[in-house]
Amino acid sequence: MIHEETPSEVISRNFIERIIDQDLKTGKHTEIVTRFPPEPNGYLHIGHAKSICLNFGLAAQYHGKCHLRFDDTNPTKEEVEYIESIKKDISWLGFDWGENEFFASDYFEKLHEIAIKLIKEGKAYVDELTAEEVRAYRGSLTEPGKNSPYRDRSVEENLRLFDEMGKGLHDEGTLVLRAKIDMASPNLNMRDPSLYRILKSEHHRTGDNWNIYPMYDFTHPLSDAMEKITHSVCTLEFEDHRPLYDWVVEQSGIETIPHQYEFARLNLTYTIMSKRYLLQLVTDGHVSGWDDPRMPTISGLRRRGFSPESLRAFAKRIGVSKTNSVVDFALLDHCLRDDLNARASRVMAVLKPLKVIITNYPEDQVEYLDADNNPEDEHAGTRKIPFSREIYIEQDDFMENPPKKYFRMSPGKEVRLKHAYYVTCTDVIKKEDGSIKELHCTYDPDSKGGWTDDGRKVRGTSHWVSAPQALSGSVRLYDKLFTAETPGEATGNFIDDLNTDSIETITGCKFEPSLAEAKAGDYLQFMRTGYFCLDEKDTTEGELVFNRTIPLRDSWAKLKKKLGIS
Ligand code: ATP
Ligand code: MG
Repeated sequence: MIHEETPSEVISRNFIERIIDQDLKTGKHTEIVTRFPPEPNGYLHIGHAKSICLNFGLAAQYHGKCHLRFDDTNPTKEEVEYIESIKKDISWLGFDWGENEFFASDYFEKLHEIAIKLIKEGKAYVDELTAEEVRAYRGSLTEPGKNSPYRDRSVEENLRLFDEMGKGLHDEGTLVLRAKIDMASPNLNMRDPSLYRILKSEHHRTGDNWNIYPMYDFTHPLSDAMEKITHSVCTLEFEDHRPLYDWVVEQSGIETIPHQYEFARLNLTYTIMSKRYLLQLVTDGHVSGWDDPRMPTISGLRRRGFSPESLRAFAKRIGVSKTNSVVDFALLDHCLRDDLNARASRVMAVLKPLKVIITNYPEDQVEYLDADNNPEDEHAGTRKIPFSREIYIEQDDFMENPPKKYFRMSPGKEVRLKHAYYVTCTDVIKKEDGSIKELHCTYDPDSKGGWTDDGRKVRGTSHWVSAPQALSGSVRLYDKLFTAETPGEATGNFIDDLNTDSIETITGCKFEPSLAEAKAGDYLQFMRTGYFCLDEKDTTEGELVFNRTIPLRDSWAKLKKKLGIS
């Protein structure tokens, strides 16, 4: 189906969309089939999110299909846990592969047949060179390679040895099946690449059926071809593999030739995205797991409080190009804030409580005041919050000896309690050590809702929580996981750039009672302290744990700096 586009869409179309438009127009294809092909050897990260949004997005846009294919050719690194997490993450991002779930391992029989066909046609041979010798024979970018002395074995001998490899009669690393292409090719990938290796490992799906496993570069293009993928979209580093992919598919005799298109992978400042490195962070205990809220994994971002919408918006903003670049982390923050600002429920939480007693408020009285849930969304409604004689405010919202332009609470100064009343501090009660124990205030009963119509000027507004009904718990404030824009750039080891101060836990926080209903996946704005989400894993009975997703834009920090207040 041809996508009818608006003029602005025509201008903003990426190069892959333009190719697809053309292929539909010329009748080369009538339906678009893309795929997302993860290797189940780790959790998905934000780079994968870019690829998912692109492949599933194209399928949706052109009313085609996007296959989810697990590229599970390496039994030693793959696990069922990873498959489950990958499916969960793609669904959470908002995409559905329907019945189109495939595994490269489903093609093992067919791939084996194709390997035998290649041997029979003199296009593949069993090599006995050691891995080191293979490397030496391969040559370099400036020098051609040398033919292996085993390159010209007879078809019969190759068939016999390949059969023996399959039966487990040879040790791992002793024999490989290689394509016979061209050891002098300027493209190193064409210098007789390996097609099959001996691996006597159990596969998570095929068990101990196989002693040999096909290489990725052999499996991948054939899987695409068997699934009749029309536009095989991958990252730029596979551009040099394309001639090999085309060769493999051509030799296989499979009719459809999928075309591969390469785009720039996502790189983000202050972030690593190699699954190997992410695994190292997990196994060496630098983070609590793949879903640690500081991880750039989709599961980590979800637990941190990112919405799928914010990640999809980010993918759209960065676009699709053919030039590698590094995206500033601030753009991700921007997309996140933009989305959370529109959707997060505003609630009150006091992170570092200071007790306030409102001395002229009746002792046993509790009022339920109206509070709007989101001023950005008129449909978000209101809720009731209790107000009583004893409340908590933020320690930071009081100064005994304030500088000029300090509009928050200080002795004698009238301030607004959000949604409640005007109050004035009358007494500062100290502990023996001189620190502040509590404040005494009076309130103006005529200022209910936090305003009066007498034109009185009250500039400071504090959030607060009523003490008797408050819920208790802790919050975790996060900083970037790495201190360097490009982790590992200076020393060659990304671990050297780990931020040793990337998590601050504040205990003894007080939350408004509505948060008893909070669930993971609820988007919350704690007034004036940031966007937060419940951490369901760490929350226990009576002790809530919230993760700060991101601070609000911090205008106070700027002002503090200007005024020289620490
Ligand atoms: P890693 O190098 O971290 O192991 P990978 O690319 O090998 O990652 P795969 O599971 O093979 O991981 O990736 C699945 C798909 O996601 C591939 O099509 C790959 O091109 C794409 N992808 C991986 N990383 C990125 C990224 N940073 N930006 C965009 N796409 C990516
Ligand atoms: Mg890969």
